[in-house]
Amino acid sequence: MFAEVIVDIAHTAVDRRFTYRIPEGLPVSVGHHVLVPFGQGDRTKEGFVVALKPSADYPEIKDIAKIVERYPVVLPEQIELAEWMKESYHCLFVDALRLMIPAQMRGMRIKEKKVRTVMIPEGADTQSVLDALESAPVQKRVYELVAKIGAEASLPDLNAFYPGSTAAVNALVRKGFLIEKSETVFRRPGKIRLHTPEYELTEAQGRAVDEIRKGVLRGAGDVFLLHGVTGSGKTEVYLRAIEDCLALNRQAIVLVPEISLTPQTVGRFTDRFGERIAVLHSRLSAGERFDEWRRIRLGLADIVIGARSAVFAPLERLGLIIIDEEHESSYQSETQPRYLAGEVAARRVKTAQGALVLGSATPSMMSYTRALSGKYRLLELPDRVAGRPLPTVEVVNMRDELLMGNNSIFSDRLTERLSECLAANQQAMLFINRRGYATFVSCRNCGYVLKCDNCDISMTYHKSESRTRCHYCGAVKPLPKECPNCKKPFIKQFGIGTEQVEEAVHKLFPAVRTLRMDTDTMREKGSYEKLLSAFHRGEAQVLIGTQMIAKGHDFPNVTLVGVVAADTTLNLPDYRAPERTFQLLTQVAGRAGRDNLPGRVVLQTYEPNHPIIRFAKAQDYVSFYHYEIAERKKMLYPPFSLFLRIVFADRDERKAEHACLDYAKALEAELRAALGEDGKLDLLLLVAAEAPISRISGYTRYQILIKLLRTKRLKDAVRTVTAFHDAHRDVCAETQLEINPQEMF
Ligand code: ADP
Ligand code: ZN
Repeated sequence: MFAEVIVDIAHTAVDRRFTYRIPEGLPVSVGHHVLVPFGQGDRTKEGFVVALKPSADYPEIKDIAKIVERYPVVLPEQIELAEWMKESYHCLFVDALRLMIPAQMRGMRIKEKKVRTVMIPEGADTQSVLDALESAPVQKRVYELVAKIGAEASLPDLNAFYPGSTAAVNALVRKGFLIEKSETVFRRPGKIRLHTPEYELTEAQGRAVDEIRKGVLRGAGDVFLLHGVTGSGKTEVYLRAIEDCLALNRQAIVLVPEISLTPQTVGRFTDRFGERIAVLHSRLSAGERFDEWRRIRLGLADIVIGARSAVFAPLERLGLIIIDEEHESSYQSETQPRYLAGEVAARRVKTAQGALVLGSATPSMMSYTRALSGKYRLLELPDRVAGRPLPTVEVVNMRDELLMGNNSIFSDRLTERLSECLAANQQAMLFINRRGYATFVSCRNCGYVLKCDNCDISMTYHKSESRTRCHYCGAVKPLPKECPNCKKPFIKQFGIGTEQVEEAVHKLFPAVRTLRMDTDTMREKGSYEKLLSAFHRGEAQVLIGTQMIAKGHDFPNVTLVGVVAADTTLNLPDYRAPERTFQLLTQVAGRAGRDNLPGRVVLQTYEPNHPIIRFAKAQDYVSFYHYEIAERKKMLYPPFSLFLRIVFADRDERKAEHACLDYAKALEAELRAALGEDGKLDLLLLVAAEAPISRISGYTRYQILIKLLRTKRLKDAVRTVTAFHDAHRDVCAETQLEINPQEMF
C-alpha cells in the first residue's frame, strides 16, 4: 500500500501530495500524522496522510518512517474541507490542514499528561503488610494513606500529603505491596457551573427550536437566521436545539465571539451538559487546549463551545452548528487562511448532513438579505422574554449641551439618570466608543498633531503612563511640553478615554466604586474574567468600558447604559460604518434592563437626527435594514458588489509605489480580458494609491482597491485576480490579497 502525504511545510513549491510506501505492519490510515524522510538528505519532516492507494506511478518511493499519534488526527471530512478551503480562500492545503489540529501538536511540542497511580493488590492482607513495614516508618505511612484512599492513589496526591513519597512508593512497588499503573489525565480549564433553570419556552422560542430540529432531521445543510432582539432568550433556544440534536445521536458546535467566552457563558452550557462539553478558546494553556481537542477527537465530548477556530472541531457525528452574534467581524480570520467561520460552518453542515443556526439581534446585511430572499430560513424572536420591555432610549444632543454652557463629558440628562440609578442601588454601564476617537495630542495654537515616527497615525495619550503610544507599532513618546512645530506651550491631549470618564464619575459621585475595562486594564491573563465577576457580584456600581463591555453580558442589576459618544464611528471612511454603529448601539443598549428591573439608555451624540441614531433609538432593526440596503444599492456597495484589496509594503518607498502601480496596470488588462464584452461593466472600481495608513512600522504602504459587481461572472473574476496574485506576489517585500477586507486601511 502507498500513502499520499502532505508534508508540513508551508511553501507553495511543496504544497502538493507526495507518495510514500507504507512499511509492512505499520497501521497507517487516512488522517494519520506521520514522519517521513523528505528532500535532500532525507531530513525527517512531519506530514498528514490524505489518501491511500494500491500502487505508485514511479519506482523510487521512500517509506513512511513513523506514526506520531496512534489515531488519525484529521477526519476524511476535514481533508475534503481543507481541499475546499484551498480553493475558496486561496491558501495552501497545509495551512488549511493545520487549522484542524492544536498548534502545539505539530513539532510534538506537547504530550499527553500521564500520572503514576498505585493501589493495593486485590485480596491483600493490609494488617500483615503494616506489621511487616514496622521498621520502615516512611513506607508504612504511605501505605496507610493508600489504604485509606481505598482506590487508585496518584503520586502527585501522595506527594502533596507527604512530600518525598516517591522513594517509598518505589520501594513498596518493588516489594509487591503496591501495584502501579499509569493513567492519562485530561487537563481541563476551570469548571464553573452557573445554574440555569429549564424555562418553559415562549411560543416564539418553541417554534424556533422546532424548526431547527426539523432542519437537523432533514439533513440538507439548511441555514437558519435566528433574529431575536436583545434579551429574547436566544441562548435558551441554542440549549434546547442542542438537547434535541443530542437526542438524535448527533453532536454540536457553538461559536461565540472570543470576547463573550466568559465563565458565565460557558457556565450556562456546562450546567446543562456537564462533562460532554469541551471548550476551545485562546485563553487556555497549551495543555488544556490539546486535551480538550483530544476529548473531542476521541469521542469524549459531544458539544464544543469556542471561538472562531472551533468551527474545525473534529466531531464525527456533527449535526448542528450555532453561531451566536453572527454579525461580529471576529468570525473572519485576519491571518491566512482568511476564512469566514460562517462559510466554513455552512460547508461542514452540508457535508455532515446537518443544519446551521446564525443568531443575532442585529444580523449582518448579507445574512438578512439572504433570509429575505429565501436562501436562509428566517426565525424571529420579536420580544424579550417574560413580557419584559426593551429599554427606553433617550437621545441627547451634545451641541445643545455646549450651547447651554455644559462642556463636561456628561450631559445633564445622563448625570440625572446616573444619580437616580445609583440612589436606587442599581448598576450602570458607561460605554465609550474608542474607535475613531482616540485621545490624540495636538496644538491648540497651530493645529499640529503628534504622530508616530514609524506610522502615519496619531499617537494616543495614556494618562496612567503619562506618555503617548502608537496603537499600530507600540512606539512610545513623552508628552511634549511645547509644540514641536510652533514652540508654543499649547500642546494638549484631546478626546475622551475611559480614564477621563472614570475621573468624571468620581468627581460627581465620590463614594461610588467603579471598574474600568479596556485594552490597558485587560493585559493580564484572567483579568477579563476577574473584572466581570467582580461587577457581577456587585463589587462596583459603575462599569466603564470600550467595545468589550458591549456584547453578550447578562447583568441582572444593570438598569442604566450611558453611551458617552454615540457617533464616533459613524463617519469612518468605510461603507460598513453605519451598519457597525447601529449594531454596536443596539448591542450596548441591550445590556440594560435584562432582568425584572426596566432599563434605560442615554445616547449622547452630535448628530441626533442622523437616521442611524434614530433607528438605534427605536431599536428597530428592520427599518434600519431597509434604509441601509437602499443606500448600499445606490452606491453599489456589498452585498451588491465585492471588494478586493491588495496591499503592497516595503521599506523602500519607491519600490512599494512602483510595484503597486505596475501590478495594477497589468491586472486591470487581465481582468478586462477575462470579463469580456458582456462583463465590461462589472469592474466598478480599480484604483491604485497610497494606503489610508501610508506607513506602518517603517514600511511604506500602497494598495489597490477593486470593486466588482456581483454577477454570475464574479467567481471567474476573483479567480483571475488570485491567479494573477500568485504569479506576482514577489514584487515587493510584502504583498497581501484580501477578499472582502474587514478593514479598509
Ligand atoms: P439573548 O441571548 O437573546 O440576549 P438570553 O438568552 O441571554 O437572551 O436570555 C435573556 C434572559 O432571559 C436570561 O436571563 C435567560 O435566562 C432568560 N430566559 C430565557 N428564556 C426564558 C423563558 N422562556 N422564560 C423566562 N426567562 C427566560
Ligand atoms: Zn507606530
